Amino acid sequence: MFDDGEFLFELRMCAWAERNWPPGTTRAGEQAVLVGRQVGTRRRRWDTVLAVGDREALKRRADFGERELDSDLLRVVRNAPAEWAWYRDVLPQWAPWRYVREHVTRAAERGLVDRRKNSGRVELRRRQAYPDWCDRLIAIENKPDLDASAADALADQLHRDVALGLADEVWVATKQTGEAIEPALLTERPPEAGVLAFAPQSMAAEVLWHPQTLPVDKPGTRIEERPSGDAGDLSAARFSYVDPETKRHRRRVLAERVYGRGFRSFVDSMRPDCRWFQLREEDRQLLPYCASKERLIEARECTGSCPVFEPEPPTWRTKGWPIEGGPGTLQQRLLADRRTRGRPRDGEKESRTDEN
Ligand code: SF4
Repeated sequence: MFDDGEFLFELRMCAWAERNWPPGTTRAGEQAVLVGRQVGTRRRRWDTVLAVGDREALKRRADFGERELDSDLLRVVRNAPAEWAWYRDVLPQWAPWRYVREHVTRAAERGLVDRRKNSGRVELRRRQAYPDWCDRLIAIENKPDLDASAADALADQLHRDVALGLADEVWVATKQTGEAIEPALLTERPPEAGVLAFAPQSMAAEVLWHPQTLPVDKPGTRIEERPSGDAGDLSAARFSYVDPETKRHRRRVLAERVYGRGFRSFVDSMRPDCRWFQLREEDRQLLPYCASKERLIEARECTGSCPVFEPEPPTWRTKGWPIEGGPGTLQQRLLADRRTRGRPRDGEKESRTDEN
């Protein structure tokens, strides 16, 4: 059922991690584990990112709504004062002031802070303190089939991840082969990176190599360019430093992305509006299934250019549409419901700005 396709492997890994992290210990379930898929920064995106945090802090995070807070909103809510103040007196200037003011307005429109105008000046105050709810970030690269060329490319990425130290742990997850020595252990990679052998069918995992905790509070090294290692390559390595405060901010942004996106929005990149598209339940997990191909499907094959694609009949859409929509809409709603299940729920608050 699960071949070497990365997409289905990744979905299974995400579901497994949500239930079983940290692996190989009895501590699973002690902390809240939120799982994001294809989450990252402008420069780097990881297959799976786990945001591990305290349950009480996560409940306080829910007061800020279900949607993620982006980098600008985080700066506003984290620096908003308890009492009314002119925004320029209390916020750091990370952009021209007129843009900062727009972010204050945006935050107020989402009900994250209070905003008013006083003698022509925009003032803000916080509604509640933003909790640092994420204690640890875990970055996982999924490589079910770790052949030599995949291993080379992966080693380069892992070296960069370890040098930067944005995540507390870096892992590679590969498909369990059952061989005496798993091939993943024989590949070149930094020793700080952990290795997990995972069986997507049985949802069993084995730690082959434990990772080292990376120094996330220390300056990180961003490798801009590395010599290829070829004998004729005489180029020099180029790198830059990333200060701890920038890393802390980036980590909060990443945690928020995990919080807002989760891993069940995969339908967005597929064609749930195709008449053959279905969701099949496997071990309490909904997975994409094609009734025409009669098997689980990868995201890359379920696109508008699929030769078997057929739009769902208009009559499906009119059943309760637009309130309930056709099967495609129903499936998206089903996944959205499950996405919110692992975290406290709180609807977006109404905006109540005091502008006059
Ligand atoms: S027929 Fe093609 S587009 Fe339709 S569900 Fe199957 S794989 Fe997706």
